Amino acid sequence: MKALVIGRDAQVDLSDVPAPSRAGECLVRVTVAGICGTDLHMVRGYAAQTGVFGHEFVGVVEETPPEQADWRGRRVVGEINVGCGHCAWCDAGEKEHCPDRTVLGIKQRDGAFAELLMLPIANLHEVPPAVEDEAAVFTEPIAAACRILEQVAVGPDTTVAVIGDGRMGLLTAQVLRSTGARPLVIGRHQEKLAVARQLGLDAMEHTARAGPFDVVVDVSGRAEGLTLALELVRPRGTVVLKSTFHGATPLETWPIVVDEVSVIGSRCGPFAPALDLLTRGAVQTEPLIAGEYSLNEHRQAFDAAKTHLKVLFRM
Ligand SMILES: [Zn+2]
Ligand SMILES: [Zn+2]
Repeated sequence: MKALVIGRDAQVDLSDVPAPSRAGECLVRVTVAGICGTDLHMVRGYAAQTGVFGHEFVGVVEETPPEQADWRGRRVVGEINVGCGHCAWCDAGEKEHCPDRTVLGIKQRDGAFAELLMLPIANLHEVPPAVEDEAAVFTEPIAAACRILEQVAVGPDTTVAVIGDGRMGLLTAQVLRSTGARPLVIGRHQEKLAVARQLGLDAMEHTARAGPFDVVVDVSGRAEGLTLALELVRPRGTVVLKSTFHGATPLETWPIVVDEVSVIGSRCGPFAPALDLLTRGAVQTEPLIAGEYSLNEHRQAFDAAKTHLKVLFRM
């Protein structure tokens, strides 16, 4: 099958590779896959993985173990963490913290920039008919945003700011809005802030004054994001860190102590509420899509993803 393979030198090549084969798992034919910040970071040379990368996808189940045959032909999205199945984390149903986990396209498991991928049935979620492929491919990042709502109480009376006007910022702000809150998106790109406003979100340049806020979510992917978040949060408020990559962050920590701020890390989240938000139209994805490419056009696709919102691969 055709797949995008990342090498030790972070070189990306379209290669002919054997179809994945993992006993007891389901084979999924990928329809659409999305490029996210993690993929861009890997292309910049920070890959833990060599092999097929990519982890945001929608596809159709092609083969299953016999006892799951009723899943064949279903349109699915998939959770990316696969646990060992026998540690305390896995027993508690929290496979995303299993120390021996593999992660689709990120850690010791071939990913979604390919014609076929494999995941266990427990990771798969059927996509409701109302949700098109181009929207379903956003389920994984929307689920990551839904994780915030499991960690922090957000409701109509909560004041919320989202630092970062990229893909994750615009998805996170919409997820927070679904609680009745009115999040403010703070960014540095006029054209992305315009998309935020098109989505009905409040948006402004990072240089303007705002706040203080009960909850500030940093999805900027920049070291300064956390500093700004600590400036914007109210005493005893909460800062949620959503960007995996900040680099080394020089940081004055005294405001955390003086203002008794809670700083929370937040990563992968639940797929069911994410699919529900997409089904209800509470999260809009269409204005975020900057283009669709074939795997052959991977160079153009990654170039576009560096500056634009969401770039998709159609297999
Ligand atoms: Zn991602
Ligand atoms: Zn485990």
